[in-house]
Amino acid sequence: MIRPVTVVTGGSRGIGAATCLRLAAEGHDVVVGYARDAEAAGTVADGVRKAGGRAVTVRADTSVEADVARLFETAEEQLGPVTGLVNNAGVTGPLGRLADTDPADLRRVVDVNLLGTLLCSRRAAQLMAARRSGVIVNISSAAATLGSPGDYVHYAATKAAVDTLTLGLAKELGPDGIRVNAVAPGIIDTEMHAAMGDPDRARRAAATIPLRRPGQAEEIAAAVAWLMSPDASYATGTVLRVSGGR
Ligand code: NAP
Repeated sequence: MIRPVTVVTGGSRGIGAATCLRLAAEGHDVVVGYARDAEAAGTVADGVRKAGGRAVTVRADTSVEADVARLFETAEEQLGPVTGLVNNAGVTGPLGRLADTDPADLRRVVDVNLLGTLLCSRRAAQLMAARRSGVIVNISSAAATLGSPGDYVHYAATKAAVDTLTLGLAKELGPDGIRVNAVAPGIIDTEMHAAMGDPDRARRAAATIPLRRPGQAEEIAAAVAWLMSPDASYATGTVLRVSGGR
């Protein structure tokens, strides 16, 4: 059987890293995209190889068109035709009210979370439509429907846009044999909270979550892996919420 070749953006840490390892365990060869942390990406690639998959790391800022082109070019050169894409790279900027948020942070969040997802999806759609098959999974957020007042309404808005993109692109690409879905995580225990200025945020949020704990990256990776798999062959255009009930 031909092994799937899947590009995971932001595969060096957190949910992306867990997704790379889970997909490798399920028989994928994996392209580990990353922005800055080459060492972390290399460690994930080693993990993929240990699980029996082929792996390549590519530094690519998903908000930059030339980087995205190089990401897919390197993937195809080194591992063969790309069959899957996980649009995972995402940023929030510092926590705070919109009125207090630096416009440069607003721009960055829109650039990475929305434009980056669009650019990667566009390139994947070009390659996959020509082959009449492929799978895309977008990492959204429960924030898309909660709004996240006081924390990051701009981030929540980009994730709502990702949900709409998921719906529209699924309809657009369905006739080409391409499925497009999203996973909307709740609060997951990753380094993202420290990056937004509150390392203890996930633990403190436990009381507000019906399952009374933050999620683990592996629990999101499991949902991504299902949507990527043939078991989800009739699922497209759906947003799977994995949020402990939040
Ligand atoms: P994380 O631990 O901060 O990891 C972020 C990853 O994205 C890293 O691999 C980072 O690469 C990469 N990245 C950042 N900016 C990038 C860019 N411009 N281009 C390419 N890669 C970039 O984050 P996480 O918590 O795993 O979050 C992953 C996704 O889940 C994001 O889309 C996030 O919005 C979403 N999400 C997270 C939570 C949560 O509670 N953690 C909840 C809902 C949704 P480097 O290592 O090179 O910096």
